[in-house]
Amino acid sequence: MKWLTREFKNLADLFYPELCITCGDRLAIQEQFLCLHCWSDLPVTNFHFTPDNRVAKLFWGRVQVENATAFYAYNKGSKYQQLIHYIKYKGMKELGYAAGKRFGQALAESDLFNTVDLIVPVPLHPSKEKQRGYNQSEWIAKGLAFSMQKEISTGNLVRKVYTSTQTRKNRFDRWENVENIFAVQKPEEFIGKHILLSDDVITTGSTLEACAAELLKIEGVKVSTATLAFADY
Ligand SMILES: [Zn+2]
Repeated sequence: MKWLTREFKNLADLFYPELCITCGDRLAIQEQFLCLHCWSDLPVTNFHFTPDNRVAKLFWGRVQVENATAFYAYNKGSKYQQLIHYIKYKGMKELGYAAGKRFGQALAESDLFNTVDLIVPVPLHPSKEKQRGYNQSEWIAKGLAFSMQKEISTGNLVRKVYTSTQTRKNRFDRWENVENIFAVQKPEEFIGKHILLSDDVITTGSTLEACAAELLKIEGVKVSTATLAFADY
């Protein structure tokens, strides 16, 4: 049966070959989305081993974050920049899950992150989620939860306000734009928890800052953050 499946895949590949989304090479049977070379070549930050890293510093003087990390860094034009684009805009939620699992394997080895109780993805506004069909941060969170063996919470932290695109705004404007757009429905469920906020990409950190500020209003809550990518420019 397995032989048959493989034969069928080979046959299908003749007509619709599956290609690595970063280098364009044809994928082998066991590969998914990215070829093994591109996965192993990913410019990982290893920030989960260094508390005072550049992502953590984004929050300094703004909001109390225990630990912050990003799986990999990219510059404009990097072949890995497309990864987030595919997860977010091309319907590849399974790629978010696959990348989240790899990220979670790394975080599971870090003393800074294994005290986390709960993983909470940054929510989309319901109308945006309906439009996209899924929340990419939630799929990344599912991957993290699988590898870290942690619980995931969705639906308690919610986005109240639909915000337009935030590109080309400075940090101050962006903060103005995200303040009070998040809320917690049942704060009692988060009391005393160390929450790991997950998102796809961190640039200025304003969105995560706004989520953290909302969560930190709850008694005994600690917040850490983990994003798949760090826009390094
Ligand atoms: Zn590749």
